[in-house]
Amino acid sequence: MANDSYEGGCLCGAIRYRITGTPKFQSMCHCRSCRRASGAPVVAFVGVFDDQFVELKGTRTIFESSPGVKRGFCRTCGSSLTFAGENWPGEVHVFTATLDDPEAFPPTVHTYCQDRLPWIDPDDGLPRLERFGAGQQS
Ligand SMILES: [Zn+2]
Ligand SMILES: [Zn+2]
Repeated sequence: MANDSYEGGCLCGAIRYRITGTPKFQSMCHCRSCRRASGAPVVAFVGVFDDQFVELKGTRTIFESSPGVKRGFCRTCGSSLTFAGENWPGEVHVFTATLDDPEAFPPTVHTYCQDRLPWIDPDDGLPRLERFGAGQQS
């Protein structure tokens, strides 16, 4: 899907964004922090570089969920939209489910399975990483 562009946004529509080009990764994160931030048991991400992400409308509010970790969300409706961490410099990790076409970015790996809830046990054949090292994802 190189050179394609995809748009997404929050639940209320106050924030719209676009990503372009080929993602660095497509994952599902099982970490506790993503769970709390999203209210969901697991979070799918599309990881892109900063120059592949642009806000088209509105501005995300940033919450620093742990030192060096910035989570972007809509202050009006609460949708979680992005993750950025100093362990992944120059990257934006977009919450896949906020894209208009999330089907375009199926995850290829599970990360932070050390925190995985026992009742989230997908039989999808994807690799399961205990964590996700620097240069990979949250
Ligand atoms: Zn919103
Ligand atoms: Zn996570």
